Amino acid sequence: MIITIRNTANSEHRAQLMALLCRITGSQRPITTTQMRGREVVAIDSALVDPEAHSLLRSLNAVEQIHSLNTPYQLASRAFQPENTSITIGATNACTPVIIGGPHADPVIMAGPCAVENREQLITTAQAVKRAGAHVLRGGAFKPRTSPYQFQGLGVEGLHLLAEAREITGLPVITEVMEPGMVETVAQHADVLQIGTRNAQNFPLLLAAGRNSKQLPVLLKRGLSSTLSEWLLAAEYILAAGNPNVILCERGIRSYDPQTRNVLDLTCVPLLQELTHLPIVVDPSHSTGRRELVPIMSRASIAAQAQGLIIEVHPDPDTALCDGKQSITPEQLTKIIRETSLIANMIREEI
Ligand code: PEP
Ligand code: MN
Repeated sequence: MIITIRNTANSEHRAQLMALLCRITGSQRPITTTQMRGREVVAIDSALVDPEAHSLLRSLNAVEQIHSLNTPYQLASRAFQPENTSITIGATNACTPVIIGGPHADPVIMAGPCAVENREQLITTAQAVKRAGAHVLRGGAFKPRTSPYQFQGLGVEGLHLLAEAREITGLPVITEVMEPGMVETVAQHADVLQIGTRNAQNFPLLLAAGRNSKQLPVLLKRGLSSTLSEWLLAAEYILAAGNPNVILCERGIRSYDPQTRNVLDLTCVPLLQELTHLPIVVDPSHSTGRRELVPIMSRASIAAQAQGLIIEVHPDPDTALCDGKQSITPEQLTKIIRETSLIANMIREEI
């Protein structure tokens, strides 16, 4: 159930509503509202609202409208917000902002190394992906590695290098945050917070990302074996914490065949577009784990009408400290951007 708050509600009316919501939900946490569709809204579980509570809610001055939705996720639901969410990436730092999810927007290409390895590697890659036509620079400073003996990333030093790369190229940057206590530190330097597949159901992290003080967009990767409903409920944590700027990222799901690292589930793109208004991007690198599959799966993703791609690029993929097998060169990226832009134009003209 989503409650739209009247924008003329005064503080007394709001306090009445919040007190009632705390009582209905038994919430220990303060109730958080989110700005969506130009209005302030709050979502609660309709199973908790008996007929008496419902009529009490309806009688409050602060309540403008009550939407009853029959999906487990609420704010993420297309039934609540029919129009696509459009998110500006790079709105708060000095860089060239880019819009994802807007009407007729071009696919947004995020590209860069899996991990920030050193200054030269990052700046060279950043300049190369910019020349190739990418809109956002990706790079991991905190790396969630399977083995504790693998390169774990440069940490805060990596964040400083990403900020420097943004200054040099004008590209906004996306980087992963792995723990709730680091959200504000990462948000100081980044333009988009990435939550990785392994943390896709780390609820304290989702809440912290939802509360980041700059309201930076959050790119939420699909959990290793998340259903669409679980994934949208994870997004719901971020939305319900007050941040409407969530981008979903399909990065492949676990299956049994070791031929590919994961299985790219492109059916999720049109399915999600039915279920949610949030923008969807595809990661052809982690989903395949094989660089030779990245170009064709990038084209397929845009043909399936994903709103963007996030691709691992390295100047010398064979020597990458992380995910070299799935990393492509800047030259290959140039070709992918040219091809996917042609596909996007063709679809725009035909549909
Ligand atoms: C990454 O983007 O480098 C990454 C670790 O991705 P995922 O969480 O999808 O494995
Ligand atoms: Mn990687």
